[in-house]
Amino acid sequence: MKEERHDAVVVGAGPAGSVTAKTAAEHGLDVLLIERNQEIGVPVKCAEGVSKAIEKFVPVDKRCICAEVKGANIYGPDGTKVVMQGGEMEEVGYVLERRIFDKTLASEAARAGAAVRVKTEAYGIIEVNGYAKGVYARSVEGDTRIYANVVIGADGVESRVGRWMGINTQLLPSNISVCAEFLMCDVELNKDYSEFFLGNEVAPKGYAWVFPKGGDCANVGLGIGGDVSGEKHRAINYLRAFVRNKFPDGKIVAEMYGAVPLSGPLNESAADGLILVGDAARQVNALTGGGILYAIQAGEIAGDVIVKASQENNFSKRRLMEYESRWRSTFEKRLETGFKAKEFFFGLSDKDLNTLARSLAGIKITELSTSALLLELVKRNPKMLLGLAKILL
Ligand SMILES: Cc1cc2nc3c(=O)[nH]c(=O)nc-3n(C[C@H](O)[C@H](O)[C@H](O)COP(=O)(O)OP(=O)(O)OC[C@H]3O[C@@H](n4cnc5c(N)ncnc54)[C@H](O)[C@@H]3O)c2cc1C
Repeated sequence: MKEERHDAVVVGAGPAGSVTAKTAAEHGLDVLLIERNQEIGVPVKCAEGVSKAIEKFVPVDKRCICAEVKGANIYGPDGTKVVMQGGEMEEVGYVLERRIFDKTLASEAARAGAAVRVKTEAYGIIEVNGYAKGVYARSVEGDTRIYANVVIGADGVESRVGRWMGINTQLLPSNISVCAEFLMCDVELNKDYSEFFLGNEVAPKGYAWVFPKGGDCANVGLGIGGDVSGEKHRAINYLRAFVRNKFPDGKIVAEMYGAVPLSGPLNESAADGLILVGDAARQVNALTGGGILYAIQAGEIAGDVIVKASQENNFSKRRLMEYESRWRSTFEKRLETGFKAKEFFFGLSDKDLNTLARSLAGIKITELSTSALLLELVKRNPKMLLGLAKILL
């Protein structure tokens, strides 16, 4: 088997992996970024909505933006509309073109000096004395033993890298959102707002979305709880029903399936010689399903920490835990609130959801953030949402 050696190997070239690779390479580390797919950013498994706050972390080229929206319209099961404006909710602000966005991030990593290799899949970990010391990878050129001082698992929702090092990354069905999405054209849509549809008939333990993609096109999709998905009750069955009702004449030009981890973050995202970032570390807001912003922030922190660990030649879990404490102080609170709120809302009946939506109808919520929405709901429904109030306070 061929062998090679690098300072760091990053598994997965999504936003988390590319930003980690870029940050580390910029500071002079010899980084290899591997991606199992033949093209970075493809297939797109995302609704592509993101807050404009993304610009605080990475430059977003115009070519990466398909649409810009003012806010979100959220519809209760009976059609009651709640309008939110502003810019702090994970998934609302820009609708990206991820096939370009993800490639741009990987190109930036390459420009900073990282080696990027597509069609290369990690299939095992090299472990020496309890430390991750690299990965086994498969490509068209055969198998390679890739040695590295530190391994970064940025391998998304299906992550195996953490498991290989004994981290429990298992997701219960109730903590997975099973998603189906169509890219549709020739649809009549609200181009200024991303729209969310709630209800047990539309998407049990989840929601449906219509995110404008420019012109008369939109990402139309939904996610349902993994524990309610079953024969004839698959996400695709719900999506077909939704589209039949909402866009009977629309044209489907692409179809995709994917999953979002809704477990809240892992208890531990580092081990000796290993760091997990992004979906692999379950850094997703479980209420909204938004993970792009967290993947990018975690990638920046991870890149910085592995640079320091390299300078000190110390890749112990203890040293790498700086990554864990920094991402937790940066965004753990938001993930925690999202998780607890998800647990609460997923248990509500359509009747309850209608009551909540009606309590906000006609009010303009000007701060578009998950916590602003939750606080407004608690204010207007104190008795019903006593449990939720306890979570938030
Ligand atoms: C249907 C759907 C809709 C979504 N909508 C939104 C949204 O609107 N807004 C938002 O913020 N978030 C959304 N998300 C979540 C968002 O897509 C993720 O949180 C984000 O992509 C996480 O980035 P990542 O880099 O951690 O993982 P990914 O983007 O999943 O990247 C992981 C990469 O690792 C590669 N890989 C996996 N295993 C290996 C291996 N063994 N070897 C080499 N490469 C490997 C994969 O091919 C992939 O390219 C959505 C997710 C889904 C499924």
